[in-house]
Amino acid sequence: MSVSASFDLLLRGGRVICPASGIDGVMDVAIRGGKIAAVQKDVLPSSTKEVIDLTGKLVLPGLIDTHAHIYQYVSGRFGMNPDMVGVRSGVTALIDQGGPSCMTLPGFRHFIAEPAKSRVYAFLSAYLVGGLEGHYYPQLYSPEGVDIDATVKAARANPDIVRGIKAHAEIGGFARWGIRVIEMAAEIGRRAELPVYVHFGQLWGLPESGANGEDADTILTRVIPLLKEGDVLAHPFTRHPGGFINREGVVHPVIQAALDRGLKVDVGHGSHFSYRLAKKAIAAGIVPTTLGADIHGYNTHVPAPAGTPDQHEDEENHPFAGQAKFSLVQAMSSMMALGLSLEQVVPMVTANPAKMIDRADEIGALKVGMAADVSVLDAAPRPLRAARQREHRSDCRQPAAAGVLPARRRPLRRRCRDFARSRGGLSELESRKMPLHVIASAAKQSSSVHGPGLLRRFAPRNDEVVQIAAPPASPFGPVGRIGVARTR
Ligand SMILES: [Zn+2]
Repeated sequence: MSVSASFDLLLRGGRVICPASGIDGVMDVAIRGGKIAAVQKDVLPSSTKEVIDLTGKLVLPGLIDTHAHIYQYVSGRFGMNPDMVGVRSGVTALIDQGGPSCMTLPGFRHFIAEPAKSRVYAFLSAYLVGGLEGHYYPQLYSPEGVDIDATVKAARANPDIVRGIKAHAEIGGFARWGIRVIEMAAEIGRRAELPVYVHFGQLWGLPESGANGEDADTILTRVIPLLKEGDVLAHPFTRHPGGFINREGVVHPVIQAALDRGLKVDVGHGSHFSYRLAKKAIAAGIVPTTLGADIHGYNTHVPAPAGTPDQHEDEENHPFAGQAKFSLVQAMSSMMALGLSLEQVVPMVTANPAKMIDRADEIGALKVGMAADVSVLDAAPRPLRAARQREHRSDCRQPAAAGVLPARRRPLRRRCRDFARSRGGLSELESRKMPLHVIASAAKQSSSVHGPGLLRRFAPRNDEVVQIAAPPASPFGPVGRIGVARTR
């Protein structure tokens, strides 16, 4: 059946994958008034104001990053610009993990969530101080620094932004104060009726008095019973003590029972990710529910605001440090390099995170009537040699996006090799499946402004950025930013 109604925009001929509606095939996606108007074969191109031919590309529901750090300026150099890691990196919705707290949430709403072109949500910090400077000072995160009532109240009063609670279960905190903070965070989650996202793997150094009888390998066993269905175990593949792989080198025996009970797993890729441990866990049958890039100012290079504290000592903490192309899409590529299929990875960044924040009726799917948040990727395999050369070239031609400093001179290939030596297993990464590329994304389109969708191009350095601009007279300004990380 063909459709001949008039549309604002037609994304034509791409491979549409929408796990929520069970679609995987070559189809057209038509958009009208900022909403999905049709997803089917043979939408007549003459009926639309704008047609983009996406033959050979992947057309996905707008990608959702479950682990962002975007409280820019307030969290020091740790917080990224929301649209840089969002819609300009192919991601249309971001969930900040523990940046704002009950005390700083109004600022997050006013200065971050509202002006961003990307959709912004948050898992509210269980701690009064939130994620200041990337949780730099451990002493601020004791039970004394948690106010259960105030945090529940803030969460309940801001349901449009606050979709969960963030806490840390790791040896540095346990050695100082035991499990009390996690009990408090779990109570906040129960009372606010929101999922709790629990960071595992060492974050803080031990106090001078040492581990005080605590053992990183027992933390999962003790924390899991406090958690409810829908709560999230994060950083399963951390290379630090306390992740899913215990010191015997096997998946912690409590994990499968936790998953059977309805707990979820988020990769939280970032700097703690170990390919070696991920490979083991995936081989043992652990398939993460959601992904989450966990990109922040310590695993990329962003200018440090004058006078802010030194960054955590971890010189080689990420092979892609300084690369704007470290992104959610790169994290998807990591999962595929580890042997998961594209069909397994797409739900982790679309349908599953939408469910995690209880917004599956609004985002995370390409269904008629839903927001026209769309991400377009290129998954064409290409020979490794060419891929390396291109990466090397673009390495020297950063920045790809505002706020990211030019990359250090050391070639990416050598940095990857060094990284492989320190972590093991990167050779798997260099498969022909790698990497996915962002072609385009569009987010948060106001229903009244998509209009003629003036397609405009401008090209800062090696990036092409296509912008779908609003009609000139529109009071709403540009909609649907499109960023091309690297297409040819
Ligand atoms: Zn994080």
